[in-house]
Amino acid sequence: MKLSAASLDRLPDDVDVPRYDRSAITTGIVHFGVGGFHRAHQAMYVDRLLRSDFESASRWGICGVGVLPGDRRMKDVMDAQDCLYTLALRHADGSWDTSVIGSIVEYLFAPDDPEAVVEKLAHPDTRIVSLTVTEGGYNFSATTGEFDAENSLIRADLAAGAVPSTTFGLVCEALARRKERGLAPFTIMSCDNIEGNGHIARSTFTAFARLKDPALAQWITDHAQFPNSMVDRITPVTTPDVVDELATRYDLEDAWPVAAEPFTQWALEDSFTLGRPAFEDAGVQVVDDVTPYELMKLRLLNASHQALCYVGYLSGYRLVHDVTQDPLFARFLLRYMDEEATPTLQPVPGIDLADYKRTLIERFSNPEIRDTVARLCAESSDRIPKWLVPVVRANLDSGGPVALSAAVIASWARYAEGVDEQGEPIDIVDRLKDSLVPVARSQHEDPLAFVRNRDLFGDLVDDERFTTAYLDALGGFHSRGARAVVEELVGRPA
Ligand code: NAD
Repeated sequence: MKLSAASLDRLPDDVDVPRYDRSAITTGIVHFGVGGFHRAHQAMYVDRLLRSDFESASRWGICGVGVLPGDRRMKDVMDAQDCLYTLALRHADGSWDTSVIGSIVEYLFAPDDPEAVVEKLAHPDTRIVSLTVTEGGYNFSATTGEFDAENSLIRADLAAGAVPSTTFGLVCEALARRKERGLAPFTIMSCDNIEGNGHIARSTFTAFARLKDPALAQWITDHAQFPNSMVDRITPVTTPDVVDELATRYDLEDAWPVAAEPFTQWALEDSFTLGRPAFEDAGVQVVDDVTPYELMKLRLLNASHQALCYVGYLSGYRLVHDVTQDPLFARFLLRYMDEEATPTLQPVPGIDLADYKRTLIERFSNPEIRDTVARLCAESSDRIPKWLVPVVRANLDSGGPVALSAAVIASWARYAEGVDEQGEPIDIVDRLKDSLVPVARSQHEDPLAFVRNRDLFGDLVDDERFTTAYLDALGGFHSRGARAVVEELVGRPA
């Protein structure tokens, strides 16, 4: 049975469907980047609210927006399925909690009709604009924090009279119209995995506005809010087996469902210009300061993914749970978390860190998630500088140990050569691939070549404590392989 509003009533009882009146929902949130994560996380929280307190939540329906050409497929699926989709939460024992999410009520594809997107954003009902546009979507240098005004799409959007095509162009055009019409600015809520995601959103959107119209930038600075948030739920790319399994289990045809782990967490700062849904009623931790939560997550969960993925890939693993279930790599992970990441954290109110780390190993070991090592290796140049380099920096400053994190960076450098330990090519997915791969290949002659890139690594290359550990690991990767290096670093598990 094809998923649509008309088929909801005919789905089996073990698929939890929205019973609320979707036609009575108005859009309060416009979301850029409707991918797997948004659909497993924020849209799920709004759906929870719609189910539990429809009256107050019904002003907070979501309008999805896609700006990249690749989002056309999402537009087609959303149109065909009345914006409904299935969320399957996969437990380690093979059982699924399956629900249909109804909180997205519209979807606009900006390349087809940018004006419709701008007017939706400028509409008085739009009070929050949220984003999961990946780390690269913020268009800033990880080391300097500067907005990249040289990006050709950004330059086109900055031209006088341009029809906007980027998130920055669309949002700032809408803010200009709101200013002109005497409306307050919406809140811009980043839900991407970036340290200080709200601060980054504030600085990048304001930087774009300043280049376009300094008075608009001042108005944004004076009136707009950009709450920081920490978001967590492992959501792999949807694979065809999820689509097939839904058809087998429930006779449900969904062209683009999303599968995720059962665990979910969202810590969100309470700073909103025009109100917000009662997120706390849906299990969100609404806090004054999100910093301790995000440091915990970025340095334990996200950086740990990087600690696993390159050594795992080089050792022949392709699925994350297989790497984590290997006692050697689990030990490497725990030692990285305990010895190098945890000392750089602040106390996290309400969280037992030992328990959090144990749960992380369990989550990474869940065989049902089938998260791929390749996904974790993709776009490393957006990840390592934001998640791991700050850990190394903090430990260099405090005199703490860096051997394990330096080895993780070296494992990326080895992986970026684009050939695995069996001599097979690696499909490097990275926006900087064309510059990174040749540099990585030159490191047999010049072993520090990779980390000399100051845009990615800042001044780590100037610190002998870092370079000694890095060179030891890189030399080992070349001569003895990833497994041997990890064994030398953490010892062979009993
Ligand atoms: P996805 O590939 O399924 O979706 C990404 C979306 O962002 C797509 O709609 C894409 O078109 C859009 N996008 C990418 N670059 C853009 C740009 N420059 N401008 C505008 N839109 C752009 O990925 P996902 O799994 O949904 O993850 C998205 C982000 O969510 C991650 O990068 C991360 O910051 C955050 N996140 C993901 C997970 C996860 O497990 N997948 C967990 C926590 C946080």
